[in-house]
Amino acid sequence: MEITRIAVLGAGLMGHGIAQVSAQVAKYEVAIRDVKQEFLDRGMGMIRNSLAKFVEKQVVSEQHMKETMARINSTLDMKEAVEQADLIIEAVPENLKIKKAVLTEADRYAKEDAIITSNTSSISITELASSIQRPEKFCGMHFFNPPQLMKLVEIIRGAKTSDETVDAVVAVSHRMGKETVVVKKDSAGFIVNRILVPALNEAFNLVWEGIADPEDIDKAIKLGLNWPMGPITLVDYLGIDTTLAIAEVLQNELGPKYSPSPLLRQMTRAKLFGRKSGKGFYDWTKKR
Ligand code: NAD
Repeated sequence: MEITRIAVLGAGLMGHGIAQVSAQVAKYEVAIRDVKQEFLDRGMGMIRNSLAKFVEKQVVSEQHMKETMARINSTLDMKEAVEQADLIIEAVPENLKIKKAVLTEADRYAKEDAIITSNTSSISITELASSIQRPEKFCGMHFFNPPQLMKLVEIIRGAKTSDETVDAVVAVSHRMGKETVVVKKDSAGFIVNRILVPALNEAFNLVWEGIADPEDIDKAIKLGLNWPMGPITLVDYLGIDTTLAIAEVLQNELGPKYSPSPLLRQMTRAKLFGRKSGKGFYDWTKKR
């Protein structure tokens, strides 16, 4: 099946970036859907800003930016978003109930042969597939933040995912200019987050236990491990709420050694979500 149209569900941190790469690099026609006009406007604004930066750096032309924007349609209507799509990429919050409801609705309106994927960071692909009528046409398609710049897509098989589905999603990812890895067995956190999230969580435990200051933890990991940014800054970029949600899935699926740091919970309760909300560990309202 030839893929020409993509629907992205969720216009947040990840959804807007995935929509942009789909339209800009792979040149697909894209529909992006969110639940409130203000969220759609924010997502489209982020795409515009990102493209404007590429233009400013002379990576792409004004014409390229215009053509890319023209390929992206935003809508609040699920039916309108998915009914013509060959591939649907779900990027709503990391919450099983929300994801299942969104997938069930998308499945109802999608074409019979459309492939459905989830950008989940940790939730079981097999569990998500149980909410739709085409589990063989479903897999994980896990992008990294920001999707415009990060090279990797993890492709995760659910228990019923067909080889054709995996092959098609690998091909789409390559057309988007990405490298792929296939996760053969559906297991929480897949490859990257199984390794990364416990490390990020431990950085939060160090702060919570008063063992070191956040700035020193960031400095230590940057200089000691050559990470491009420290773990506390990285969590501010990923979203403190999203990191907590992933840690909770790892704990439930893999055991108590993955328990989230109390500090992740406390900051989420205080709505200190990180860069996306203006404040997390650091203050992002002033340019850092
Ligand atoms: P986010 O909170 O920035 O965005 C989620 C968006 O989904 C919001 O705009 C919200 O309004 C929207 N939404 C909620 N319910 C919806 C519905 N029913 N239909 C359509 N849209 C709906 O979150 P995010 O960081 O973009 O994360 C989205 C997914 O991507 C999560 O599963 C997350 O684990 C995964 N992910 C996140 C990162 C990261 O670094 N933040 C990286 C890789 C994967």
